Amino acid sequence: MGDSFDPIRYSVIEKKNPREIVMLRGSGCKWRKCRFCDYHLDFSKDEKSNYDLNKEVLSHVTGLYHRLEVINSGSFIDLDKETIHLIKEICLTKQIHILHFECHWIHRNEIKAIREEFKKANIQTIVKSGIETFDYNFRENIFRKGIDEKSPEVIANYFDEVCLLQGVEGQTLESMKKDIKIGLSYFNRVCVNIMVENGMPVKPDKQLIEDFVKEIYPIYKNDDRVDILLENTDFGVGGSNE
Ligand code: SF4
Repeated sequence: MGDSFDPIRYSVIEKKNPREIVMLRGSGCKWRKCRFCDYHLDFSKDEKSNYDLNKEVLSHVTGLYHRLEVINSGSFIDLDKETIHLIKEICLTKQIHILHFECHWIHRNEIKAIREEFKKANIQTIVKSGIETFDYNFRENIFRKGIDEKSPEVIANYFDEVCLLQGVEGQTLESMKKDIKIGLSYFNRVCVNIMVENGMPVKPDKQLIEDFVKEIYPIYKNDDRVDILLENTDFGVGGSNE
């Protein structure tokens, strides 16, 4: 992506679970091995330039829904301390009481501290993780996700919400339905991302995606606990301004 990548970094999600969303930039995902992901390329090692960019993006936040979702390629832990401080300040000044972060499994033991830090300011932290599928073999051998835990119950001890990656070669309608059901049994909300071709080894399955739209999408399209991103820019962030 490099300097030419100029994504849209602020948006408002109006429908389910209304919230503002910002896509910030951090030092980069520390896992970086997922075989479907090009998102981890959105990073910089230059802390000051990350902070300057994040400050500009956060300046658009109005607090209209009192909820803010912060995403960045990787985990909240990859954001610099000043950015975290600024997020807290903005939540306080804009009366944002619920803050969503993302986190990879490898940082699960760092979540407690951030929850406590924000709780002191009366801000509830909701943490989402890309689990992608509860089929352990598929997740680790095909996706190479880096989650050495099979039990959704154990995973749910750390995270409130999960992302699932669907519409991928090798999945089936049944496996996708099963994953959504497991997600809804153990987590508060599920975000289904439909695979989009991005030059990485994991490929979308066009027919399976059509079947998803016909058979699964109608079941969950009005379910407030399920977000479905048929395109990865459906939350209004990502993509490009160019
Ligand atoms: S953990 Fe997230 S950002 Fe990192 S490689 Fe995997 S999908 Fe990409």
